[in-house]
Order: sequence, then C-alpha cells, then structure tokens
Amino acid sequence: MSRLITVSNRVGVPTPGAGRAGGLESALREALEADGGIWFGWSGQVAEARSEAPTILKKGKVTFATVDLSRTDYDDYYLGYANSTLWPLLHYQLGLIEFHRKQFQGYIAVNEYMARLLAPLIEPDDLIWVHDYHLIPLAEELRKLGIKNRIGFFLHTPFPATEIMVALPHHEMIMRALCAYDLIGLQTELGVRAFLDYIAREANGRLEFDGSLSAYDQLTRVVAFPIGIDTEGFARSAVRATRLAETKRLKNSIADRQLIIGVDRMDYSKGIPTRFEAIDDLLTEWPDETGKFTYLQITPPSRSDVLPYQALRRDVEHAAGHVNGKYSDLDWAPIRFVARAVSRSALAGIFRFSRIGLVTPWRDGMNLVAKEYVASQDPDDPGVLVLSRFAGAAAELKTALLVNPLDPSEIAGAIHRALKMGVGERKERWQAMMEVLRNNTIDDWSANFLKALKATRQLD
Ligand code: ADP
Repeated sequence: MSRLITVSNRVGVPTPGAGRAGGLESALREALEADGGIWFGWSGQVAEARSEAPTILKKGKVTFATVDLSRTDYDDYYLGYANSTLWPLLHYQLGLIEFHRKQFQGYIAVNEYMARLLAPLIEPDDLIWVHDYHLIPLAEELRKLGIKNRIGFFLHTPFPATEIMVALPHHEMIMRALCAYDLIGLQTELGVRAFLDYIAREANGRLEFDGSLSAYDQLTRVVAFPIGIDTEGFARSAVRATRLAETKRLKNSIADRQLIIGVDRMDYSKGIPTRFEAIDDLLTEWPDETGKFTYLQITPPSRSDVLPYQALRRDVEHAAGHVNGKYSDLDWAPIRFVARAVSRSALAGIFRFSRIGLVTPWRDGMNLVAKEYVASQDPDDPGVLVLSRFAGAAAELKTALLVNPLDPSEIAGAIHRALKMGVGERKERWQAMMEVLRNNTIDDWSANFLKALKATRQLD
C-alpha cells in the first residue's frame, strides 16, 4: 500500500480550539488518514534562519512536517515571486505583475530547500502530491536529489492563455518545471486547453495517442479535476446554522429586506469594487429597489504586506462609502461592509437566508464560495447565484445567472432579475446546480486525482 505525501505552502496542522477545518484541509487530511502519510510544507513562521530539519507532529496515521522560512525567503519567495509575480499573472492581471530576478532566484531557492528537507522522509512507494503555484519547481528539485516516486501537481488558480503566460520572464523555466510532474491537475478544461496550446506553440511538444504529453524531453499528463466541496456537510451545517445567535442577529437586523451576500478574501481578482458600482447602477436604473435589499459584503484582509492589496482596501472602502453616501437614508444603507472573517458555520447560515449569492471575480481558479452558497440553500425556497463567467465554477454551475464581472450594468441587471425571480425558476436552477455538486464532491476530487496519479508510471 503506497503512503501519500501532500506538500503545500501552508500545512493544515490540527490546532486545538482552531474550529472546523476548511474543505480542502479536511479532504487532504482524510486522504492522508486512509493509507497513512505525511503533510509537508511551511510552518507559517518566519525565523532567524531556515530549519535544519522539519518539525514533526504525529497524529494517528498522519505526520505533519513543517519547516520555517527566513525573512529573505518570506520576502522573495512568498510576498515576492509567488504573490507579486505568479498570482497576478495566473489571474490575468498583467498590469500588476512585478518581476525581480532576485525574487525569482529566492523562489527557486526555497523550492530547493523544501525538496532537501522533504527528501529524507520519502519512501520508495510513496505517492507525492504537490499543491499550488508556490511550489511549481518542487518536482524538478526532488528529481535532482534522485527521487523517483510518482509526483503529481494541482494548480488551484486558473491556468492562463498562452499570450498571458509568455509575458512572464523565464516562462519556459516554469513550464519545464511543471512538465517534470507525472500528472498536472488543473481546475477546468479551458485551463487544459490553454496548457496544451502553450506546449504546442512555445515548447514544440505534442500530445501522444494515449493522452500523455511530451515536452522538454519529459512525459506528463494534464487533466482537469474541478475541485468540489463537502456538499452534504455544508448543507447540513447551513440548516444547523439557522439556530446560531450570530445568524439570528443578522436576520433581525435585515428585517423583511432581501439579503444579497458577497464573501471574498480582500483580493483584486475578486472584483469587489465593480460589484459596488453594480449596486450604484441598480439603484439608478431601478429606483424602486431602494430600501428593499441589503448587500452584505464580508471580506477578511489578505496579504496586506503586498502593496496592491493595501491600495485595494482603500479603493473598496472608498467605493462602498461612495454608494452608501449617495443612496442611504436614516434607516437604510445599501451596502454593509464587514472587513473580518466569520466562522464557517455562521457563513453557511448567512448563505441560506440570502436571496442572492453575488460571486463576480474577474478571474478565479474555481471559487468555492459559489459552491458553498448553492449547497447552503433551502430546497423549497432557494436563492439565486449570480456568477462570473470567468470563475472556474461557471463551467459546472451553468444554471447560475452568468455575468461578465467587468460590466457593472450587466451585474446590476442580473441582481434585478434575481430579486424578481419566482420560486419555480429558482428551484429549477438550483436543483441542476446541486446535482452537479453532489456528483463531484471534494472527496471525489481527491480520489480522482490520486487514482490518476497511481495510474502514471513509476520511473525506474
Ligand atoms: P480563494 O481560495 O481565492 O480565497 P475560494 O472562494 O475558492 O477563494 O475559497 C475561499 C474559502 O474561504 C471558502 O471556503 C470560504 O468559505 C472561505 N472564506 C472566504 N471568506 C471568508 C470569511 N469572511 N470568513 C470565513 N471564511 C471565509
């Protein structure tokens, strides 16, 4: 029986009193518990110096192995190349990309460091599953150390079109590093097509008859595995959450108005200011909606050490203030903006009594909030999902009201339509989406990926 080793930038080490783990975290933990395994990655600590060896915590059949980063590693690898170069690139934000050679070198160096500390923990039959854009070069670094195991990679973000990818200096090094994996998992078929397009046009590679891909003298596979959620679990916690004091307090404060909910990390890829503009357009176009809804936007801060995120926070607050200043009355404001996280259980309850889930990222690998909103609905009186066509989730949730997230008036039109939609149409749309979510849960996602990884050949 092969063990599983998952590697991700942050490790879901169980901490007492931390509350229920997120969907991805519990799915990976479950996959590790099945046959035993290791979860390896950064501890989240910035220390004087790097670790000599990983810190080990054993819990049942799972070992959590974490390493610290130095201040320079954190600046160059995490804040720098991962979050100021790759993240904007992968989300089509060419204007926000920064490129500094030193940060690129720091990124490679941290991957080399992680590979060096991980290698001694690996046994010959282990399956290795690496997650996300922080760790693209990890397989290459492990191979240099003689590791022959099957190694898979999953990219949680979009994979962009070739014209975007080639804007990255050294893009061929990143693509070569990706092709060192035995299996590359992406969120959507669109991503797979973009990947194959790059390989054909830029790398002179080709797709073989058996579906494998040869490029840079390496053989790999690129497959779409759209990530899911714990659909039934989320639905159950939404029912339970209606009894929570937090949920009741919100319900009372909304009175008989319709609730529109937006929940996103503070990130420029999420399109939050455009959503506020859409509320402005809605109230201009349909003034009789004044006072009839409350739009609650819950946005915990994120990556506030990275400059564009600080500017974004100012923009978001300014845009909300502008719309509220224009339309508020003594007893009503269209936008309620909450800049902190709320518990996952309360979130499910809030989703359940919101008439509209407003999910309009400019780009998103999948967008789990969209799926969580759908799973939380009351089957007899479901709300409407207004969803960006540029979120990975749009490929699956086809009966949402799909919008171009860059166009405030299109979003406004969809909100208006959703506010007016009868229960018959709402049910029909919701049932179709719920079926998709029941057929592709987070457990299916990890099982499908691991099955495909096992089926790839082991190097000799
Ligand atoms: P991203 O990974 O880019 O942040 P996703 O929508 O895919 O976007 O995933 C976000 C996850 O974080 C979801 O599971 C969501 O429930 C959770 N989340 C987002 N905002 C909050 C918040 N304000 N409070 C609690 N959980 C949140």
